[in-house]
Amino acid sequence: MKILIINCGSSSIKASIIDHQSGERSGDLKVQRLGEEGCTLEINGKSEALTATNHQDALAIAIPKLLENFEGELAAVGHRVVHGGEQFQKPTIIDDEVEKVIESLFKVAPLHNPPNLAGIRAAKKLLSCPHIAVFDTAFHSTLPKRAKTYAIDTEIANDLGLRRYGFHGVSHAYVSKVAAAHMESDRRDLRIITCHLGNGCSVAAVEYGRSIETSMGMTPLEGLVMGTRSGDIDPGIILELFRSGKTVDEVDEILNRRSGLSGLSGIGNDLRDIEERASEGDENCRLAIQVFAHRVRKYIGAYAAAMGGVDAIVFTAGIGENSVMMRHRIAQRLDFLGAVFWEDHNRDVSLSAENPVAEISTRNSRCRLLVVKTDEEKQIAIESAKLVLEMNTTKGDLEIPVAVSARHVHLTQETVEALFGEGYQLTERNPLSQPNQFACNETVSIVGPKRTLENVRILGPTRPKNQVEISRTDEFFLGIDAPVRASGDVDNSPGCTLIGTDGRRIELKQGVICAWRHIHMQPEDAEKFGVQDRDVVEIAIQSNGRKLTFGDVLVRVKSSYKLEMHIDTDEGNAAELARGGAQGVLVNVEGLASMRTRLTKHDQV
Ligand code: ADP
Repeated sequence: MKILIINCGSSSIKASIIDHQSGERSGDLKVQRLGEEGCTLEINGKSEALTATNHQDALAIAIPKLLENFEGELAAVGHRVVHGGEQFQKPTIIDDEVEKVIESLFKVAPLHNPPNLAGIRAAKKLLSCPHIAVFDTAFHSTLPKRAKTYAIDTEIANDLGLRRYGFHGVSHAYVSKVAAAHMESDRRDLRIITCHLGNGCSVAAVEYGRSIETSMGMTPLEGLVMGTRSGDIDPGIILELFRSGKTVDEVDEILNRRSGLSGLSGIGNDLRDIEERASEGDENCRLAIQVFAHRVRKYIGAYAAAMGGVDAIVFTAGIGENSVMMRHRIAQRLDFLGAVFWEDHNRDVSLSAENPVAEISTRNSRCRLLVVKTDEEKQIAIESAKLVLEMNTTKGDLEIPVAVSARHVHLTQETVEALFGEGYQLTERNPLSQPNQFACNETVSIVGPKRTLENVRILGPTRPKNQVEISRTDEFFLGIDAPVRASGDVDNSPGCTLIGTDGRRIELKQGVICAWRHIHMQPEDAEKFGVQDRDVVEIAIQSNGRKLTFGDVLVRVKSSYKLEMHIDTDEGNAAELARGGAQGVLVNVEGLASMRTRLTKHDQV
């Protein structure tokens, strides 16, 4: 899908046409010094003078020029919007209502949201495809209350909406995902600290896929030392500045534009120049580098503590991707976190679209140190495309067949032989809906402390572990306390006795579970529903009996599966499911991180 990404700053506009899967660009434009003398437009590398004073005029000239050489079809326009406030926690189609809310956030993001909205309004006049807002604050909407609350008078904080939002979310989301893929892992199994070090700088603690702490706060002024922004300072300093007679605008100017690397070095905000001067002995530039690196190290230590450990530390953006010296200063002596820095690799880092990740930790480093090329436009394209897919999916496509799994057992070949004799092979009675699975002619009796359940069907083929799946009602009947588990997760579950048809018995030490209700699906289904393996979702059952919505439904994705939701007899009865089953509809994807982490990877369900 080709998406046009538009990113409007106060005096600049950037736009690219991007393929959401490959990240490939089929056109780029840049407007610089908008509203100033010498405004330029650069299209696909070629620069020209531009006579425009505002976003609407600039886009009206630039967009048709960009599209002149583009032959495909635009599926959507994705707009970067810096502040989404409390209202927007995911990408959103921009209608008049949404525009009004973005406008209402001008007071908390006076530098960013006004040009963002100007760009949206101008682009909507030019292009009729869906316009989607992707918010920089959205990835941090998962911050727990303790992280987003400032310890000031609650009433005042509530009245003025003083709370931490966090920014650079698009970049933190993207690089944490790329880092996890590089580690051949899932972000939901990792604790990652992402350091976005550009002109604006922020750190995020991404715990099992969710941002739980970040250094920027209610505004992008808090946290790290930046190009021209101070980051953290004693709030008393602000009072002191006012007492010295400065106005609000002057204090704003000092903290946002005359501080950070620029304020410390006295020579501007470009780290390349500061590094050069520091190497020539300039004390102010040396101090600027030391203060910058010290602050990042402090945050890394704090975020490792907040997550109880860290599996990867990622450096990204202009400074993070390019400054060998700054990475060296930040990443040395992190051995206590299990992160062992490798200087040679650090010196050799050279990122490109083909090689977007470099390792700068030693092979035995438990915590990986990675440099990742950020691509915020691609992340906006991915998120916009996902929303377009959701919009294009009709209701019927989103239905999931629901089936009731009666009590059954899966056995190892060893158990089959113990129950039916040496060398015995299970025989197929009928195939099941999941490919290569079948119900056997053979049955067993399950013996619990209280009673026995007879004629329980064995399902084939044999598996590496015994598993006895019963309902809550069966549990009470048998007198066994079975935990709710995903299939395959039988460690430390209770055991039982099984009896074969000719009276042979076997004691199982473990294996009795109550199956966690789940949906089998293929990767294509997962993309359509916008979910991933091990997500926990909510499904509304549309039976002719009693409508029922099940929370806590586990998603299992594998190419060999067929789309189907499985519930047990108790659950089926509660929904008065007809014999032929019913349809379910996905209503919500929950972020139950703790459940996801408890669940390890199993080969089969
Ligand atoms: P923005 O936040 O504006 O997107 P960038 O991510 O482009 O900023 O980062 C800009 C910063 O990266 C500047 O401070 C620049 O000095 C720094 N930078 C870029 N290349 C290098 C380099 N090779 N060495 C040191 N610093 C670099």
